[in-house]
Amino acid sequence: MDTAHVESDLVNVLFTEEQIQGRLREMAAEIEADYAGGDLLMVGVLRGAVMVMADLARGLGRHVEMDWMAVSSYGSGTKSSGVVRILKDLDTDISGRHVLVVDEIIDTGLTLSWLISNLSSRNPASVEIATLLRKPEALAMPVEPKYVGWDIPNEFVVGYGLDYQERYRNLRDIGTLAPHVYS
Ligand code: 5GP
Ligand code: MG
Ligand code: MG
Repeated sequence: MDTAHVESDLVNVLFTEEQIQGRLREMAAEIEADYAGGDLLMVGVLRGAVMVMADLARGLGRHVEMDWMAVSSYGSGTKSSGVVRILKDLDTDISGRHVLVVDEIIDTGLTLSWLISNLSSRNPASVEIATLLRKPEALAMPVEPKYVGWDIPNEFVVGYGLDYQERYRNLRDIGTLAPHVYS
């Protein structure tokens, strides 16, 4: 791969940096209004949510704590199975806290629904979800994210935290990869 021209591997840009930043500012305003004056602990799901967390949190003109979890979802092939293992747990006791889970994309929703029931068992005051992107299958899941950037079609996207074989996370835009990347 020509690492000097990473951006040119995107064949179709779905969301530009400007669109992403604009939408995250709107979401931050909603979050600020909903949590006005109250406690807020944002929990980012590593590694994909790093960019969303950084920009969403900086869009908030209020105090916020941030913590991180890393989970791995066992699956056959590319689909998650819902069988999840915690690779890195929270450093924070969330009992009595208002928790906002921050994710970059919900596909089947299996990973996140496992995570939500795991977090709920720790007696938080509340647990909500913010995700930048949501795919159609997630609509069938019982977990309903309170904040969604955009609903997208069922295609594989990269950039802004989203990887293909651990690459492309550092792109500022989100899009689909050119076919030559896969071959
Ligand atoms: P699920 O919601 O199916 O349990 O899994 C969600 C995870 O699958 C995301 O956090 C992400 O790591 C990965 N994923 C799902 N759809 C895509 C996609 O279109 N592009 C990329 N790069 N990862 C995806
Ligand atoms: Mg994720
Ligand atoms: Mg990935």
